[in-house]
Amino acid sequence: MSEIYDVVIIGSGPAGLAAGLYAARAKMKTLILEKNKAGGQIVTTNEVANYPGSIENATGPSLIARMVKQAEEFGAQRKKDNVVEVDFSEKIKKVKGEKEEYKAKAVIIATGATPRKLGVPGEAELTGKGVSYCATCDADFFTGLEVFVIGGGDSAVEEAIYLTKFARKVTIVHRRDELRAAKSIQEKAFKNDKIEFIWNTTVKEIKGEGIVESIVLENLKTGEITEYKAKEEDGTFGVFPFIGYIPLSEIFKGKVQMDERGYIITDVDMKTNVEGVYAAGDVRQKTLRQVVTAVADGAIAAVQAEKYIEKVFNE
Ligand code: NAP
Repeated sequence: MSEIYDVVIIGSGPAGLAAGLYAARAKMKTLILEKNKAGGQIVTTNEVANYPGSIENATGPSLIARMVKQAEEFGAQRKKDNVVEVDFSEKIKKVKGEKEEYKAKAVIIATGATPRKLGVPGEAELTGKGVSYCATCDADFFTGLEVFVIGGGDSAVEEAIYLTKFARKVTIVHRRDELRAAKSIQEKAFKNDKIEFIWNTTVKEIKGEGIVESIVLENLKTGEITEYKAKEEDGTFGVFPFIGYIPLSEIFKGKVQMDERGYIITDVDMKTNVEGVYAAGDVRQKTLRQVVTAVADGAIAAVQAEKYIEKVFNE
């Protein structure tokens, strides 16, 4: 019989790592499954200014590296495997990865969310060729060039500010005439000479042969269509859509209860509607998606999993 873990955690962003730390510290046999590399979305963030205690040069990657180390020091195991199917119908849950099938007394879903795409022609073809969803990863490519940032939320405005360290000019294209971002972030952007705004406008198409060469914009008030071409001496520019996120919950459809947008519904103890299955972090329905709330979710889920296992398996 294959080994049975106490807790299998699917996902290794802040929620998964915090759950792993708490579960392992409670002496539970704990496995954290990660698809690619540890970290989740926060590793694409250069500055983590609002996680309590992280003030001196804290970056997403450095924070994650410390979380991984801490979870491992308490005895959490980590494996790279892409989970393709789950079976929560019995007391022992099954988590099927591309490489192996894992069995667990409790499962914590911490798969997070992924950037929403614009869904316009050219976007997919030119991703990695001028279109990027990660300023920290790709800003450097646009040193001295122009960049368009799409969106008006915290991510768009913060990343636009970050991109000004590299780009010659950053233009924020937003579909309304006011930003959604927090006022403090907005103020910084309005003060930044390198940032310009195009209001009431969306992207219709991104064009280029092997690299971004132009962007087609539509003014939603006037209907006017404008094609903005890269300056001849530049040859290209960057396009960074930051228009929100979608939960990575597809494989759990029909297995746990979700809202209409695919966020997993939990109670305050991170319990889903299935006994022994918990959700933590950005994948669950909540009002504030931040590292600070993700790690809190993870800790709560692990403690609840421990109580559940104690009651159902050890009594
Ligand atoms: P968001 O708050 O959902 O904002 C998405 C932005 O994209 C909105 O301005 C929205 O326009 C626009 N948008 C959505 N769909 C679009 C489309 N198809 N075409 C054009 N524009 C579109 O997403 P976010 O900025 O990624 O933030 C996600 C969460 O993380 C939020 O809760 C945010 O507070 C949090 N966050 C916090 C920080 C921080 O505290 N430092 C940093 C980053 C993210 P409308 O405004 O018209 O809806």
